[in-house]
Amino acid sequence: MNPFEAVQLPRVINAAGKMTYLGSSAVLPEVAAAMSAAAQSYVDMAGLKQTVQRRVAELTGAEGACITSCAAAGIVVSVAAVLTGTDMDKVEALPEIKGTRREVILQKGHAVSFGANLTQMIRMTGAAVKEIGTVNGVKPYHLEGAITEATAAIVYVVSHHAVSNEMLTLAEVVETAGTYGIPVIVDAAAEVDLRQYLAQGADLAVYSGHKAIGGPTSGLVIGRKELIDACMLQEKGYARAMKIGKENIMGFYAALQCYLKEDPEETAGRLTEIVETLQKDIEHCGLTGISTKIVKDATRPIPRLQLIVGETAPLEAKQLIAGMERNNPSIRTRNHSADAGMIQFDPRELKIEETAVVAQVLKQLLEG
Ligand SMILES: *Cc1c(COP(=O)(O)O)cnc(C)c1O
Repeated sequence: MNPFEAVQLPRVINAAGKMTYLGSSAVLPEVAAAMSAAAQSYVDMAGLKQTVQRRVAELTGAEGACITSCAAAGIVVSVAAVLTGTDMDKVEALPEIKGTRREVILQKGHAVSFGANLTQMIRMTGAAVKEIGTVNGVKPYHLEGAITEATAAIVYVVSHHAVSNEMLTLAEVVETAGTYGIPVIVDAAAEVDLRQYLAQGADLAVYSGHKAIGGPTSGLVIGRKELIDACMLQEKGYARAMKIGKENIMGFYAALQCYLKEDPEETAGRLTEIVETLQKDIEHCGLTGISTKIVKDATRPIPRLQLIVGETAPLEAKQLIAGMERNNPSIRTRNHSADAGMIQFDPRELKIEETAVVAQVLKQLLEG
Protein backbone atom coordinates (compact mmCIF):
# COMPACT_ATOMS: atom_id res chain seq x y z
CA MET A 1 0.00 0.00 0.00
CA ASN A 2 1.28 3.44 -0.91
CA PRO A 3 -0.93 6.24 0.48
CA PHE A 4 1.25 8.80 -1.31
CA GLU A 5 0.23 7.52 -4.73
CA ALA A 6 -2.58 10.09 -4.46
CA VAL A 7 0.10 12.75 -4.94
CA GLN A 8 2.15 10.71 -7.44
CA LEU A 9 5.03 9.91 -5.12
CA PRO A 10 6.69 6.47 -5.16
CA ARG A 11 6.66 4.08 -2.23
CA VAL A 12 9.82 4.29 -0.11
CA ILE A 13 11.69 1.27 1.17
CA ASN A 14 13.31 2.75 4.24
CA ALA A 15 16.76 1.32 4.97
CA ALA A 16 17.94 4.68 6.34
CA GLY A 17 16.49 4.45 9.85
CA LYS A 18 14.20 6.82 11.69
CA MET A 19 14.82 9.87 9.57
CA THR A 20 12.80 13.06 9.85
CA TYR A 21 13.28 13.64 6.10
CA LEU A 22 11.60 10.30 5.33
CA GLY A 23 8.69 10.79 7.69
CA SER A 24 10.53 9.28 10.70
CA SER A 25 8.36 6.41 11.93
CA ALA A 26 5.54 4.37 10.48
CA VAL A 27 3.41 4.10 13.62
CA LEU A 28 1.95 0.89 15.07
CA PRO A 29 -1.75 0.18 14.41
CA GLU A 30 -2.71 1.00 18.03
CA VAL A 31 -0.92 4.35 17.71
CA ALA A 32 -2.73 5.13 14.46
CA ALA A 33 -6.05 4.18 16.10
CA ALA A 34 -5.42 6.53 19.04
CA MET A 35 -4.57 9.34 16.62
CA SER A 36 -7.58 8.78 14.43
CA ALA A 37 -9.99 8.71 17.39
CA ALA A 38 -8.50 11.88 18.89
CA ALA A 39 -8.55 13.71 15.55
CA GLN A 40 -12.29 13.11 15.25
CA SER A 41 -13.19 14.40 18.73
CA TYR A 42 -13.03 17.46 20.98
CA VAL A 43 -11.18 17.69 24.27
CA ASP A 44 -10.18 20.35 26.76
CA MET A 45 -6.66 20.92 25.42
CA ALA A 46 -5.18 22.28 28.66
CA GLY A 47 -6.57 19.29 30.55
CA LEU A 48 -5.28 16.88 27.91
CA LYS A 49 -1.78 18.28 28.04
CA GLN A 50 -1.67 18.40 31.81
CA THR A 51 -2.90 14.84 32.23
CA VAL A 52 -0.74 13.28 29.53
CA GLN A 53 2.35 15.20 30.64
CA ARG A 54 1.84 14.03 34.24
CA ARG A 55 1.55 10.42 33.06
CA VAL A 56 4.58 10.72 30.82
CA ALA A 57 6.58 12.06 33.78
CA GLU A 58 5.52 9.02 35.82
CA LEU A 59 6.37 6.62 33.00
CA THR A 60 9.84 8.11 32.54
CA GLY A 61 10.55 8.65 36.23
CA ALA A 62 11.15 12.36 35.64
CA GLU A 63 9.93 15.21 37.87
CA GLY A 64 8.11 16.74 34.93
CA ALA A 65 7.45 16.34 31.21
CA CYS A 66 6.51 18.75 28.45
CA ILE A 67 5.27 17.47 25.08
CA THR A 68 6.36 19.53 22.08
CA SER A 69 5.87 19.41 18.34
CA CYS A 70 9.34 17.87 17.76
CA ALA A 71 12.79 17.68 19.36
CA ALA A 72 13.93 20.86 17.59
CA ALA A 73 10.99 22.67 19.23
CA GLY A 74 11.98 20.97 22.50
CA ILE A 75 15.41 22.57 22.25
CA VAL A 76 13.93 26.01 21.59
CA VAL A 77 11.47 25.60 24.46
CA SER A 78 14.17 24.34 26.87
CA VAL A 79 16.51 27.22 26.13
CA ALA A 80 13.62 29.70 26.35
CA ALA A 81 12.71 28.17 29.72
CA VAL A 82 16.15 28.76 31.22
CA LEU A 83 16.08 32.35 29.92
CA THR A 84 12.63 33.26 31.28
CA GLY A 85 11.93 30.96 34.21
CA THR A 86 8.22 31.22 35.04
CA ASP A 87 8.05 35.00 34.54
CA MET A 88 5.31 35.57 31.93
CA ASP A 89 6.64 39.04 31.15
CA LYS A 90 9.98 37.47 30.16
CA VAL A 91 8.21 34.74 28.17
CA GLU A 92 6.32 37.29 26.10
CA ALA A 93 9.38 39.50 25.63
CA LEU A 94 11.48 36.89 23.77
CA PRO A 95 13.59 37.17 21.64
CA GLU A 96 14.36 40.19 23.79
CA ILE A 97 15.97 38.71 26.89
CA LYS A 98 15.05 40.50 30.10
CA GLY A 99 17.95 39.53 32.33
CA THR A 100 21.71 39.16 32.28
CA ARG A 101 21.93 35.43 31.51
CA ARG A 102 21.82 35.24 27.74
CA GLU A 103 24.63 32.92 26.61
CA VAL A 104 24.41 29.21 25.90
CA ILE A 105 27.62 27.20 25.93
CA LEU A 106 28.12 24.46 23.34
CA GLN A 107 31.17 22.31 22.68
CA LYS A 108 32.46 22.86 19.14
CA GLY A 109 32.08 19.17 18.27
CA HIS A 110 28.42 19.40 19.31
CA ALA A 111 27.53 22.23 16.91
CA VAL A 112 25.76 19.79 14.61
CA SER A 113 23.20 19.92 11.86
CA PHE A 114 20.44 17.33 12.13
CA GLY A 115 18.96 18.61 8.89
CA ALA A 116 18.79 22.07 10.47
CA ASN A 117 21.45 23.81 12.49
CA LEU A 118 21.31 23.23 16.26
CA THR A 119 22.89 26.61 16.98
CA GLN A 120 20.09 28.29 15.04
CA MET A 121 17.48 26.59 17.27
CA ILE A 122 19.29 28.02 20.30
CA ARG A 123 19.71 31.50 18.76
CA MET A 124 16.00 31.66 17.88
CA THR A 125 15.28 32.33 21.55
CA GLY A 126 17.48 35.43 21.46
CA ALA A 127 20.33 33.65 23.26
CA ALA A 128 23.88 33.81 21.93
CA VAL A 129 25.80 30.58 21.40
CA LYS A 130 29.30 30.45 22.86
CA GLU A 131 31.16 27.59 21.23
CA ILE A 132 34.08 26.26 23.24
CA GLY A 133 37.25 24.38 22.33
CA THR A 134 37.89 23.04 18.86
CA VAL A 135 36.05 20.55 16.66
CA ASN A 136 38.44 17.82 17.77
CA GLY A 137 39.14 18.79 21.34
CA VAL A 138 37.45 20.38 24.33
CA LYS A 139 39.16 20.48 27.72
CA PRO A 140 37.71 21.26 31.17
CA TYR A 141 39.51 24.63 31.17
CA HIS A 142 37.63 25.65 28.00
CA LEU A 143 34.36 25.22 29.89
CA GLU A 144 35.62 26.87 33.08
CA GLY A 145 36.95 29.79 31.05
CA ALA A 146 33.68 30.29 29.17
CA ILE A 147 31.40 30.48 32.21
CA THR A 148 30.52 34.04 33.22
CA GLU A 149 27.62 35.97 34.77
CA ALA A 150 25.99 35.84 31.32
CA THR A 151 25.89 32.02 31.09
CA ALA A 152 22.30 30.78 30.92
CA ALA A 153 22.79 27.09 30.11
CA ILE A 154 25.02 24.44 28.60
CA VAL A 155 23.60 22.37 25.75
CA TYR A 156 25.07 18.87 25.48
CA VAL A 157 24.44 16.74 22.36
CA VAL A 158 24.30 12.94 22.41
CA SER A 159 24.20 11.85 18.80
CA HIS A 160 26.03 10.08 16.00
CA HIS A 161 26.08 13.53 14.34
CA ALA A 162 28.32 14.90 17.12
CA VAL A 163 32.07 14.42 17.45
CA SER A 164 32.31 11.67 20.05
CA ASN A 165 36.04 11.70 20.83
CA GLU A 166 37.88 14.40 22.73
CA MET A 167 34.72 16.21 23.85
CA LEU A 168 33.89 16.67 27.53
CA THR A 169 31.70 13.86 28.86
CA LEU A 170 28.26 14.61 30.24
CA ALA A 171 29.58 13.75 33.73
CA GLU A 172 32.36 16.36 33.37
CA VAL A 173 29.94 19.00 32.10
CA VAL A 174 27.39 18.29 34.84
CA GLU A 175 30.05 18.52 37.53
CA THR A 176 31.35 21.91 36.41
CA ALA A 177 27.86 23.27 35.69
CA GLY A 178 26.78 22.16 39.15
CA THR A 179 29.45 24.21 40.91
CA TYR A 180 28.14 27.34 39.13
CA GLY A 181 24.43 26.45 39.30
CA ILE A 182 24.07 26.42 35.51
CA PRO A 183 21.41 24.16 33.96
CA VAL A 184 22.48 21.46 31.50
CA ILE A 185 20.16 20.64 28.59
CA VAL A 186 20.82 17.35 26.79
CA ASP A 187 19.77 16.98 23.17
CA ALA A 188 19.14 13.22 23.06
CA ALA A 189 16.69 13.47 20.15
CA ALA A 190 17.40 10.09 18.60
CA GLU A 191 18.59 8.20 21.67
CA VAL A 192 16.80 5.20 23.15
CA ASP A 193 17.26 5.60 26.93
CA LEU A 194 14.71 7.92 28.56
CA ARG A 195 16.29 7.85 32.03
CA GLN A 196 20.05 7.85 31.63
CA TYR A 197 20.74 11.55 31.06
CA LEU A 198 18.63 12.88 33.93
CA ALA A 199 20.15 10.17 36.14
CA GLN A 200 23.59 11.49 35.15
CA GLY A 201 22.58 14.93 36.41
CA ALA A 202 21.22 16.76 33.35
CA ASP A 203 18.46 19.26 34.21
CA LEU A 204 16.48 18.73 31.01
CA ALA A 205 16.63 16.01 28.35
CA VAL A 206 15.06 16.48 24.92
CA TYR A 207 13.80 13.61 22.76
CA SER A 208 12.12 13.24 19.43
CA GLY A 209 8.73 11.50 19.69
CA HIS A 210 9.05 10.17 16.14
CA LYS A 211 12.48 8.56 16.35
CA ALA A 212 13.25 5.79 18.90
CA ILE A 213 9.82 6.13 20.56
CA GLY A 214 8.14 5.50 17.21
CA GLY A 215 5.34 8.06 17.52
CA PRO A 216 3.91 10.60 15.11
CA THR A 217 5.75 13.93 14.68
CA SER A 218 6.25 15.07 18.28
CA GLY A 219 8.88 15.85 20.89
CA LEU A 220 9.47 15.43 24.59
CA VAL A 221 11.30 17.44 27.22
CA ILE A 222 11.71 15.83 30.64
CA GLY A 223 13.52 16.99 33.73
CA ARG A 224 13.42 19.25 36.74
CA LYS A 225 9.95 20.42 37.77
CA GLU A 226 10.55 24.17 37.83
CA LEU A 227 12.24 24.15 34.43
CA ILE A 228 9.46 22.01 32.96
CA ASP A 229 6.93 24.51 34.33
CA ALA A 230 8.86 27.21 32.49
CA CYS A 231 8.85 25.05 29.33
CA MET A 232 5.06 24.74 29.50
CA LEU A 233 4.63 28.51 29.81
CA GLN A 234 6.36 28.99 26.44
CA GLU A 235 3.11 27.78 24.91
CA LYS A 236 1.81 31.30 25.52
CA GLY A 237 4.85 32.63 23.66
CA TYR A 238 7.29 31.03 21.24
CA ALA A 239 5.88 27.53 21.41
CA ARG A 240 2.58 28.73 19.97
CA ALA A 241 4.38 28.71 16.63
CA MET A 242 5.40 25.09 17.30
CA LYS A 243 2.03 23.77 18.35
CA ILE A 244 1.26 20.08 18.70
CA GLY A 245 -2.31 18.95 18.09
CA LYS A 246 -4.51 16.58 20.10
CA GLU A 247 -4.06 13.70 17.65
CA ASN A 248 -0.28 13.81 17.90
CA ILE A 249 -0.36 14.13 21.70
CA MET A 250 -2.48 10.98 21.92
CA GLY A 251 -0.38 9.26 19.25
CA PHE A 252 2.80 10.12 21.12
CA TYR A 253 1.37 8.84 24.38
CA ALA A 254 0.23 5.55 22.81
CA ALA A 255 3.64 5.11 21.13
CA LEU A 256 5.46 5.80 24.40
CA GLN A 257 3.44 3.14 26.20
CA CYS A 258 4.23 0.59 23.45
CA TYR A 259 7.89 1.63 23.44
CA LEU A 260 8.29 1.14 27.18
CA LYS A 261 6.74 -2.33 26.93
CA GLU A 262 9.15 -3.40 24.20
CA ASP A 263 11.55 -6.16 25.12
CA PRO A 264 15.02 -4.88 24.13
CA GLU A 265 16.24 -8.44 23.48
CA GLU A 266 13.31 -9.20 21.22
CA THR A 267 13.90 -5.94 19.31
CA ALA A 268 17.62 -6.70 18.99
CA GLY A 269 16.79 -10.19 17.72
CA ARG A 270 14.37 -8.84 15.12
CA LEU A 271 16.87 -6.22 13.88
CA THR A 272 19.65 -8.82 13.68
CA GLU A 273 17.43 -11.17 11.69
CA ILE A 274 16.64 -8.45 9.13
CA VAL A 275 20.29 -7.42 8.77
CA GLU A 276 21.45 -11.04 8.39
CA THR A 277 18.72 -11.83 5.85
CA LEU A 278 19.69 -8.78 3.80
CA GLN A 279 23.34 -9.80 4.00
CA LYS A 280 22.51 -13.31 2.72
CA ASP A 281 20.30 -11.94 -0.07
CA ILE A 282 23.06 -9.60 -1.26
CA GLU A 283 25.89 -12.14 -0.91
CA HIS A 284 23.74 -14.60 -2.85
CA CYS A 285 23.85 -12.24 -5.87
CA GLY A 286 27.67 -12.55 -6.02
CA LEU A 287 28.16 -8.93 -7.04
CA THR A 288 31.60 -7.96 -8.39
CA GLY A 289 33.54 -5.59 -6.13
CA ILE A 290 30.87 -5.62 -3.42
CA SER A 291 31.41 -6.95 0.08
CA THR A 292 29.32 -6.65 3.24
CA LYS A 293 29.87 -6.47 6.94
CA ILE A 294 27.55 -6.07 9.95
CA VAL A 295 28.46 -3.03 12.06
CA LYS A 296 27.00 -1.49 15.22
CA ASP A 297 25.83 2.07 15.85
CA ALA A 298 28.23 4.21 17.93
CA THR A 299 25.83 4.88 20.82
CA ARG A 300 22.75 2.69 20.33
CA PRO A 301 22.11 -1.08 20.09
CA ILE A 302 21.43 -1.01 16.34
CA PRO A 303 23.12 -3.46 13.92
CA ARG A 304 23.46 -2.29 10.32
CA LEU A 305 24.64 -3.89 7.12
CA GLN A 306 27.58 -2.05 5.63
CA LEU A 307 28.01 -2.41 1.90
CA ILE A 308 31.58 -1.80 0.81
CA VAL A 309 31.83 -0.71 -2.79
CA GLY A 310 35.31 -1.71 -3.94
CA GLU A 311 37.44 -0.44 -6.83
CA THR A 312 36.39 -3.31 -9.08
CA ALA A 313 32.68 -2.55 -8.75
CA PRO A 314 31.16 -1.08 -11.94
CA LEU A 315 29.58 1.84 -10.03
CA GLU A 316 30.79 4.09 -7.23
CA ALA A 317 28.91 4.23 -3.93
CA LYS A 318 27.32 7.57 -4.79
CA GLN A 319 26.09 6.30 -8.18
CA LEU A 320 24.63 3.24 -6.49
CA ILE A 321 22.85 5.44 -3.93
CA ALA A 322 21.42 7.63 -6.69
CA GLY A 323 20.25 4.54 -8.60
CA MET A 324 18.51 3.08 -5.55
CA GLU A 325 16.82 6.42 -4.89
CA ARG A 326 15.56 6.71 -8.48
CA ASN A 327 14.15 3.17 -8.39
CA ASN A 328 10.41 2.64 -7.85
CA PRO A 329 9.98 1.77 -5.01
CA SER A 330 12.64 4.27 -3.97
CA ILE A 331 15.27 2.67 -1.70
CA ARG A 332 16.81 4.99 0.88
CA THR A 333 19.99 4.18 2.79
CA ARG A 334 22.38 5.79 5.29
CA ASN A 335 24.97 7.62 3.27
CA HIS A 336 27.24 9.35 5.82
CA SER A 337 30.25 7.28 4.59
CA ALA A 338 29.50 7.33 0.87
CA ASP A 339 32.71 9.29 0.18
CA ALA A 340 34.65 6.37 1.65
CA GLY A 341 32.78 3.93 -0.60
CA MET A 342 30.41 2.64 2.08
CA ILE A 343 26.62 2.47 2.23
CA GLN A 344 24.74 1.39 5.35
CA PHE A 345 21.38 -0.39 5.52
CA ASP A 346 19.45 0.22 8.73
CA PRO A 347 16.97 -2.49 9.78
CA ARG A 348 14.66 -0.48 12.06
CA GLU A 349 12.15 0.56 9.41
CA LEU A 350 13.05 -2.10 6.85
CA LYS A 351 10.64 -5.02 6.53
CA ILE A 352 12.07 -8.52 6.24
CA GLU A 353 10.11 -9.09 3.01
CA GLU A 354 11.81 -6.03 1.50
CA THR A 355 15.37 -7.38 1.77
CA ALA A 356 15.03 -9.46 -1.42
CA VAL A 357 13.82 -6.39 -3.34
CA VAL A 358 16.85 -4.41 -2.15
CA ALA A 359 19.22 -7.18 -3.28
CA GLN A 360 17.49 -7.46 -6.68
CA VAL A 361 17.72 -3.71 -7.28
CA LEU A 362 21.42 -3.71 -6.37
CA LYS A 363 21.97 -6.56 -8.84
CA GLN A 364 20.09 -4.72 -11.62
CA LEU A 365 22.06 -1.52 -11.02
CA LEU A 366 25.43 -3.24 -10.90
CA GLU A 367 24.91 -5.77 -13.67
CA GLY A 368 22.67 -3.61 -15.85
C1 LIG B 1 16.70 14.46 14.75
C2 LIG B 1 17.46 15.31 15.70
C3 LIG B 1 16.94 16.52 16.14
C4 LIG B 1 15.63 17.05 15.65
O1 LIG B 1 14.57 16.19 15.94
P1 LIG B 1 13.11 16.53 15.39
O2 LIG B 1 12.21 15.82 16.37
O3 LIG B 1 13.00 15.96 14.03
O4 LIG B 1 12.94 18.00 15.43
C5 LIG B 1 17.68 17.27 17.04
N1 LIG B 1 18.87 16.84 17.49
C6 LIG B 1 19.41 15.67 17.09
C7 LIG B 1 20.74 15.26 17.63
C8 LIG B 1 18.72 14.85 16.18
O5 LIG B 1 19.25 13.70 15.78
